[in-house]
Amino acid sequence: METIALIAHDKKKEEMLEFVDHHKELLKEFHLVATRTTGTLINKNYNLNVETMMSGPLGGDQQIGALVATEKVQFVVFLRDPLSSQPHEPDINALLRLCDVHNIPLATNRKSAHIMLKYIAKKIFDRDNA
Ligand code: PGA
Repeated sequence: METIALIAHDKKKEEMLEFVDHHKELLKEFHLVATRTTGTLINKNYNLNVETMMSGPLGGDQQIGALVATEKVQFVVFLRDPLSSQPHEPDINALLRLCDVHNIPLATNRKSAHIMLKYIAKKIFDRDNA
């Protein structure tokens, strides 16, 4: 089963919940992994069994980065807050860099994430109807 990583900064958590709500049927087909607060919030609202790492500022981005580096994550949705500075900026940059190193699709805003999920849905549809 493929894995999607979900991360949202505090001001983007509401948007992440809306995004998950919109795509929940498709997301059920995946193993989901998230930073702690993001994942806990999703699990509280949806029955998606998200595996949680540590909170982003405490090392969660690095843990997800390690999964990207070992190619255990196939897609990353990272709803970043571009208007606030984050104490763990180096960790965030490291995660983004690893996505580029390993050519892992990375969506950093909701519209990109939506396009990514549309692509994934089409891939699954094509596979099931081949
Ligand atoms: P959080 O971490 O889901 O634990 O809030 C996200 C982040 O700030 O990187």
